[in-house]
Amino acid sequence: MNLLGKVALVTGGSRGIGRAIALRLAKEGADIALCARNTKAAESVGIEIEALGRKCLVIRADVSNSEQASTLVTTVLEDLGSLYAVINNAGITRDNLLLRMKDDEWDSVIQTNLKGAFNCCRAAARALIKARCGRIINITSVVGLQGNAGQVNYAASKAGMIGLTKSLARELASRSVTVNAVAPGLVPDTGMTDELTAEVMESMLTQVPLGRPGKPEDVANTVAFLASSDADYITGQVFSVDGGMAM
Ligand code: NAP
Repeated sequence: MNLLGKVALVTGGSRGIGRAIALRLAKEGADIALCARNTKAAESVGIEIEALGRKCLVIRADVSNSEQASTLVTTVLEDLGSLYAVINNAGITRDNLLLRMKDDEWDSVIQTNLKGAFNCCRAAARALIKARCGRIINITSVVGLQGNAGQVNYAASKAGMIGLTKSLARELASRSVTVNAVAPGLVPDTGMTDELTAEVMESMLTQVPLGRPGKPEDVANTVAFLASSDADYITGQVFSVDGGMAM
């Protein structure tokens, strides 16, 4: 119960990796705020969290919108009383080859993944600075480290999140707020990977030295460690949770 009495905000906590992170942090004792654009699935995650004896606040918010991100953080502070950890997990893909990529495909992915993380960091930073402790954990991707054909927009957004992480880690270190990134590899059975065909999945698996796909819980374990006091002396780092893909 490393996080007892603490509050964590998980963006995109309604399914997939975000759901696993929210449940894991709740098992560590944290009260949880979840946001998504569609809160129906988030409500059922909320029920699972409350069954663990923790509070859960479900908020409809689009993190790509700075006003909504700001209201999100204000609501968490008002309703749950404090904020210790922000997990920037909300993300989308809109894949295409560069020559076919439309402005909207580029803009929406950058706006959600990178600007969304920026919006939430900016909205939460004042409270974390004031508390003189806290965690920001940005969920980037193996694709942000090594690129991927057909994903220039997604790779740029995820690489951007790494620059955001390292710069903000330097800005907030003197206030004992740590900022780290977690870079998952292939994690099937989430909304994001649902559309991948069995053939694509098979071929991606050949790039995983540990020989199995990741589970949302593999990512959640690393986030739980980074959120815990065991990680007090770690900031500005990127942790790959990818079975060795990006080594
Ligand atoms: P997912 O199942 O599609 O979940 C994405 C979550 O983000 C959902 O809760 C979604 O809810 C929310 N979301 C999307 N856009 C949002 C917005 N503008 N504002 C607020 N919430 C928003 O995807 P996942 O696979 O769990 O991915 C989670 C994170 O891990 C993403 O950042 C992704 O890039 C990263 N990642 C995933 C993999 C993988 O293989 N799955 C690998 C590397 C990195 P709504 O749609 O209702 O808003």
